[in-house]
Amino acid sequence: MIQMNAAELCRAVNGNLISGIFGDFKGVSIDSRKIESGQLFFAIIGERLDGHQFVESALKKGGAGAVVDREMDISLKEGQFIIKVEDTTKALQKLAHYYRKKFDLKVVGITGSVGKTTTKDMIAAVLSEKYNTLKTEGNLNNYYGLPLTLFQLKSEHEALVVEMGMSRLKEIELLAKLAEPEFGVVTNVGYSHLEYLKTLDNVAKGKQELIKNLIGKRVAILNADDPRVYKMSELTDKVIFFGMGEEADYRAVKVKEKGLNGMEIVLKAENQKIPIQIPLPGKHNVYNALAAIATGRALGVSFSQIQEGLLKFRPSKMRMNILKLSQGLTVLDDSYNANPDSMRASLKVLADCSGRKIAILGDMLELGEFAGEAHREIGRFAAELGIDLLLIKGDYSKIVAEGALKAGFNADQVFIFENNKEMANQLLDMVQPGDTVLVKGSRGMAMEEIVKALTREA
Ligand code: ATP
Ligand code: MG
Repeated sequence: MIQMNAAELCRAVNGNLISGIFGDFKGVSIDSRKIESGQLFFAIIGERLDGHQFVESALKKGGAGAVVDREMDISLKEGQFIIKVEDTTKALQKLAHYYRKKFDLKVVGITGSVGKTTTKDMIAAVLSEKYNTLKTEGNLNNYYGLPLTLFQLKSEHEALVVEMGMSRLKEIELLAKLAEPEFGVVTNVGYSHLEYLKTLDNVAKGKQELIKNLIGKRVAILNADDPRVYKMSELTDKVIFFGMGEEADYRAVKVKEKGLNGMEIVLKAENQKIPIQIPLPGKHNVYNALAAIATGRALGVSFSQIQEGLLKFRPSKMRMNILKLSQGLTVLDDSYNANPDSMRASLKVLADCSGRKIAILGDMLELGEFAGEAHREIGRFAAELGIDLLLIKGDYSKIVAEGALKAGFNADQVFIFENNKEMANQLLDMVQPGDTVLVKGSRGMAMEEIVKALTREA
């Protein structure tokens, strides 16, 4: 962050200095444990904790000052300050937007039900070949994460790629208003975060807030194969479609799966046919890569730079990380999250591997009324693919098992567990050299514990 003064902060967020002097700050923190010297601390009221409890410790650790919503009796060191505002979360957002406006750069926003982080990382990899690019770190995609990303901007940045997540309507609108993207990418509309939104049409309504709030040329980069995303093309004049169907401007016409080595596609675009290597397996990653290619072209990146960028891309942790363990075991660590679409995609990747194929699955959460059928279907699908062993855990595991048994699995191929520990122990007894193990489940199922248990034994 470029250094700012507390007087400017007060003007930007409509705050009042209640203690100390108008000092300078460089950087913003909402976590007193991680605050660095010279950073400004925002006392955010979270679901579990109230940041006002930690103002004193943040200032003791060298925080430049704090933004709070109440009078506070705290002794300050020289140069420190306390600013009072009505609402600290809103002030954080206001300041982030104010700060964003200091920069004239290309901003790409990404939303969708699945694939946001992967697409974001691929887009950033591609843009980095031409521009000095800042991206959302990890998964910081909400109304705290996005502001914190914006505060990382510096004058040397030429492009910014931000992930936008939501669980309710109006959240993407807020994020888009903060970041002001000119380019908006929508990956898909599917069965995740349905808890509050209930229907896919509602999910679409939430995601399209990104396209509605684009600025400048208002370029929408849309998945043409998803009818709800396709329809968002009505919301702006400048539309670029990606996908596998004929409608797509950036279209994968051939996909050659190379197992765990990724894929080679033939891209049909701009009156050319170009082979492109994608360093990740799974048809879903064709879409993520196409989104990155289309975005790269929209920002003037050449095809050869795009290919270079894609080859440098590395998936974020727990997203189909391929671990080759010393005991001859291959682990597909996809433990970050799961929904019906991604579960199917990952099972397919497992099915294409050699050796015994073992699927270690946790529940897919947040599916609302679709949960039962979705889990039954996954069981059925695993059986159809010829997966050898199914180890499952969670409230819906019985339904997964039902689906699997009905579709041809034998009883000795399906195992249900109460918790990760039991699951890991049984798995460690079962695995043999040459096996491939897929580990996947919703975030709340903490399936990474299984991966840890496997790697610990390696
Ligand atoms: P979150 O909502 O948690 O931020 P996300 O949208 O950022 O998730 P990723 O982290 O990129 O999604 O991917 C999560 C999982 O979804 C991956 O591990 C993969 O299995 C699957 N996935 C990734 N891209 C797609 C896609 N385009 N279509 C379907 N599934 C996908
Ligand atoms: Mg994400």
